[in-house]
Amino acid sequence: MTVLILGSGGREHAIALAVSNDPQVGAVHVAPGNPGTASFAVNHPVDASDADAVVALAREISADLVVVGPEAPLVAGVADAVRAAGIDCFGPSREAARLEGSKAFAKEIMTAAGVPTAEAVACSSVEEAEAALDRFGAPHVVKDDGLAAGKGVVVTSDRAEALAHARHCIESGHPIVIEDYLKGPEVSLFAICDGTRALPLQPAQDFKRVGDGGTGPNTGGMGAYTPLPWAPADLVETVTTSIITPTLTEMNRRGTPFQGLLYVGLSLTSQGPRVVEFNVRFGDPETQPLLSMIESPLAQVMRAAAKGDLSAFDDGLEFRRGFGVGVVLASEGYPGEVTTGREIQGALASDGGSDPDIIQAGTALDGDRLVSAGGRVLVALGHGETLTGARQAAYARIGRITLEGGFHRGDIALTAAEEEAFTALSE
Ligand code: ATP
Repeated sequence: MTVLILGSGGREHAIALAVSNDPQVGAVHVAPGNPGTASFAVNHPVDASDADAVVALAREISADLVVVGPEAPLVAGVADAVRAAGIDCFGPSREAARLEGSKAFAKEIMTAAGVPTAEAVACSSVEEAEAALDRFGAPHVVKDDGLAAGKGVVVTSDRAEALAHARHCIESGHPIVIEDYLKGPEVSLFAICDGTRALPLQPAQDFKRVGDGGTGPNTGGMGAYTPLPWAPADLVETVTTSIITPTLTEMNRRGTPFQGLLYVGLSLTSQGPRVVEFNVRFGDPETQPLLSMIESPLAQVMRAAAKGDLSAFDDGLEFRRGFGVGVVLASEGYPGEVTTGREIQGALASDGGSDPDIIQAGTALDGDRLVSAGGRVLVALGHGETLTGARQAAYARIGRITLEGGFHRGDIALTAAEEEAFTALSE
């Protein structure tokens, strides 16, 4: 099987690696890819959101399967164009991608499907926003109703700040959603969907703030780990039956079946799991440790989903035992303005090739030097029978990498590892 993966980040490097481990895969192509994917796959300088260029490339390389990594091409309808060309595509249609592209649409689907989530009101005027803020009370949650790359949401106890964000969005012509605050730990659960069936991956948790202890501004994610030793044993089953399956049923009922990766961002509240958000693609950085644990043939699974029939995988996905931890190495200044073009040392395998436990994101080649090219530069992975062991492996790996001004969080998966150690001691 020949697989074309669209995108250029750490997520796409992780997908490409997992796909290349599928015994049925002969060739892996990535557009546009990064130096990490170039070391074992073929990169093509094609814009992932340019549907015509993607279809032309898929035809040229005789792709059997196209996997869409980022949300922008999905919202732009690239998956529809690939399918219309008769090529299997893992990724939802433009219509189904509205589950991520519009928060108001996602709420409408959840309400119709009876999926537990925060109560929300869509507002298009400042007066409506004020009324909604007063109705729900503090802490306030105000969301820009569109793709805002993680920057459209303000959660604050300060009513003036909440109202200022609401006013800013509305005056910029964006409707907003104001919703009830959900209290509880956040968990990500991904499911590979064929339109009716869902194959869940293991639950994961990411770390959004830039600083240790959850301090400082929000980022695209500074690290992640999977599975979650502290999560309720029936979490995956509960979320599949009460959230994912009803969502797929409702999307089908509307004639817009969801096929691809459904990312469910959850808050584990005292009343049970509640949906914080849906995304319609693999999430970064959870994907990096998650897919490094998968033992099922990923390309075959994604192709079956693309064909609308996952029944061959009814027994569920298989994962390696133990835990996976990913720690992000970020550029100086991230998530603000960063300096790029600095040399990264120690990120390659001892033979000079790609290290499968280093997932590259914001990297570039300057001659034969690997240099930084973005805010989040790479993810160092670690695996172990215990979370403590997996953390140690990830931190040992990131400790061998040097990048001037580069930094990482020191507490990825720390609390869970401490709890694990405490439980082991008391048993
Ligand atoms: P991203 O895709 O980067 O997660 P987004 O713009 O899609 O961001 P959301 O995921 O909806 O926005 O919200 C971002 C963050 O805000 C969530 O991860 C969560 O921490 C917090 N948040 C959102 N909604 C709520 C809520 N109702 N109650 C409490 N916290 C919330």
